[in-house]
Amino acid sequence: MSETKYVFFFSPHQDDELLNLGAAMCRDIDAGREVFCVLCTDGGASGARRLIGDGETCEWHGDRHDYPMDRAAFSAARDGEFTASCRFMGLQPDHILIPADRAPDGQLTAEHAEKLMRDAIKGFPAEQVTLKTLAEVKWQQQNPDHTAVARAALQLRAENACAAVEEYLETILFPAPEGTDILETLTPDAAQKERLQSAAAQYGRWEPKNGFYAVGRHSVWDEFDEFRKEQFSRLMIRR
Ligand SMILES: [Zn+2]
Ligand SMILES: [Zn+2]
Repeated sequence: MSETKYVFFFSPHQDDELLNLGAAMCRDIDAGREVFCVLCTDGGASGARRLIGDGETCEWHGDRHDYPMDRAAFSAARDGEFTASCRFMGLQPDHILIPADRAPDGQLTAEHAEKLMRDAIKGFPAEQVTLKTLAEVKWQQQNPDHTAVARAALQLRAENACAAVEEYLETILFPAPEGTDILETLTPDAAQKERLQSAAAQYGRWEPKNGFYAVGRHSVWDEFDEFRKEQFSRLMIRR
């Protein structure tokens, strides 16, 4: 597979860019490709918002969490984690893209995702653009925003709006059933692992006075636990 100069990662939520796409992103950056990451929703539906704002004691922090936030403020806190995560992986600040017309969490359609993708790659030569995002899976229930980005990327590929699409299997849906082709497991090298661990730490930052509420870890504790043990991205071929 010839490698294009530009790579656009599309992350449905704040954390997918790391938990599901991070090893691939680090590898592309280190290969000298120009890498962008686009956040496709506001991440506003996470149950962590209540957890952080309800005044109850959090077992993890052993502390009362009395930080009520409206949806916009909660989203902004998540964006802060996302941006910091991308920076620690090695993205340039102006390559971290949060479109104003991103979808509300849980409501991303394939059509909406297509628009976000077209806007992001506008002006770049199609033959030098690769889109990278999550793979659609059918053997388990998948978050609808994840399905939307997968379908949108394939639609753009079908129209030759880009040179290639690579789809990555979500960690949470692994192991894949027998017969699913996994093209490659991307294992980060030692330096990449360090960057990925630092990025993961951004989702665990508990510094309310600085606007960091560890939303990522409050949301998907187990996934972060797994990720801290092994930081893989799994490139998949669809049948
Ligand atoms: Zn997600
Ligand atoms: Zn807590």
